[in-house]
Amino acid sequence: MTTLYLVLPCYNEEAVLPETARRLDLVMAHLLRENRISEESRVVFVDDGSRDATWPIICRLHEENKLFEGLKLTRNRGHQNALLAGLLTVKDRCDATISMDADLQDDPAAIYAFLDAFEAGNEIVYGVRSDRSSDTFFKRFTAEGYYKLLDAMGVEVVFNHADCRLMSSRALNLLAEYEETSLFLRGMVPQIGLKHTTITYPRQERYAGESKYPLSKMLKLAFDGITSFSMKPLKLLRLFAILLLAAGLLLLLIGLVISLFGGFVSPLVWLFGGLSLLVSVVEFSLWLMGEYIGRTYQEVKKRPRFFIEEDLGKQD
Ligand code: UDP
Ligand code: MG
Repeated sequence: MTTLYLVLPCYNEEAVLPETARRLDLVMAHLLRENRISEESRVVFVDDGSRDATWPIICRLHEENKLFEGLKLTRNRGHQNALLAGLLTVKDRCDATISMDADLQDDPAAIYAFLDAFEAGNEIVYGVRSDRSSDTFFKRFTAEGYYKLLDAMGVEVVFNHADCRLMSSRALNLLAEYEETSLFLRGMVPQIGLKHTTITYPRQERYAGESKYPLSKMLKLAFDGITSFSMKPLKLLRLFAILLLAAGLLLLLIGLVISLFGGFVSPLVWLFGGLSLLVSVVEFSLWLMGEYIGRTYQEVKKRPRFFIEEDLGKQD
């Protein structure tokens, strides 16, 4: 039997919390009756420094029903931090966690499929949105474009998977070894490895209240995703340098050939050719410095180099 913890970051979610709690209670009670989860299973709401009645509601839910627990951050630290705080706090209390949004966009009915996949031996289960028709055109277009951009940048992410996922206690303990502070969990988790799979579920509309992810927060997360996992933007400088070098050499060569055959070459050709060569040298230097800075950046993150899944030689 699995001790299952659900972890839900909440920021100003007073409008949805009572309904979210009611629906999760139904699912958890059902799983309990079927003996699929243990009595110690819990739903943990992480209050990310809300300014409304979110925390009093969580306290009330906790008093009424021991299924519900709460964790309160001292101030708003953003969704990724709140989620990580919840996951790392409960990592040794459970066999597995499922993280989901508090606004019921991640269907509570998907919990059954997550648990099936866990019972089948998967330690990480990614929830993938099967259809985004409930999202606005803008959100869908930008989100799907972003996954493609990440892919082009060589960042390993699961397409259309956000932060709704199951992780075993072991996977959480490995995640805890990542010390970086700019969090992009959907890029970090695939780095862990272990047996994993995906399940799909339809993404619902937010039950009530407004999105807590304004464009500015979305852009920051998007930027973090690229800069934390990809060195490709740096390599662009090298490409510019090569292009400029080639253009400069070509111009000078053409000028040279024409003048060798006695033709007239505008001084602008020499000017632009020479300038391109000079600027390409500057670009090359910038790229070289960028490479070292990029490598320093990677080193200071002190990411774990590897994890051992099994060791047949280990004595118990
Ligand atoms: N959230 C949070 N801290 C924040 C912003 C959001 O904990 O600073 C939570 C929020 O309460 C919700 C989840 O993160 O449970 C996803 O946010 P939201 O639904 O507003 O984002 P959207 O679905 O609109 O992208
Ligand atoms: Mg939402």
